[in-house]
Amino acid sequence: MTIDTAKLRIELYPTDVLKTKADPVKPDAQVREVAMRMIELMQGAQGIGLAAPQVGLSWRLFVAHVPPDPDRDQDNEPNDNPSQLPISCDSPMVFVNPIITEFAGDLEPYDEGCLSLPGITGEVNRPSIVTMQATDLDGNEVTLKATGLLARCWQHEIDHLDGILILDKMTQMSRLKNRTRIKSMEKAAKR
Ligand SMILES: [Zn+2]
Repeated sequence: MTIDTAKLRIELYPTDVLKTKADPVKPDAQVREVAMRMIELMQGAQGIGLAAPQVGLSWRLFVAHVPPDPDRDQDNEPNDNPSQLPISCDSPMVFVNPIITEFAGDLEPYDEGCLSLPGITGEVNRPSIVTMQATDLDGNEVTLKATGLLARCWQHEIDHLDGILILDKMTQMSRLKNRTRIKSMEKAAKR
């Protein structure tokens, strides 16, 4: 199967591929080309993460770019502490067949959005620290630990690979708040 990456677009809820558990993928030239296109789409939409099902491909792959938060007071960060976990990454990264191998820290609430759910944000509780195992585009295994927004982003993207959306995880209050918008997206898809 040859994929015309120029034709890839961000798929919107409630399309089926977003609700489908994705299959493992073997990185090759085409997978690399798709990943590069996904980074382009993610950046064009000002997102911090994008999973393959969001461009219509049922693959276990996601891209992420969580830049440092300029509003964070850098002076309060223990910069010279070698045990400090990464909370951001300086360049976009691609993760193939990722799995979370360890959850740690307290469950923390945060208002999440999703490029497949424009106009919707909802509060989702997630563990604050995760360890993820994946391969890169060359097939090299990587194990990374993250906290903060980066940890949250990874969990959100891996949920996509299992057909899970923030709609499935957000608090009851958030679900109520977004009820009208969700209904209108479902209606628009039927037209
Ligand atoms: Zn999403």
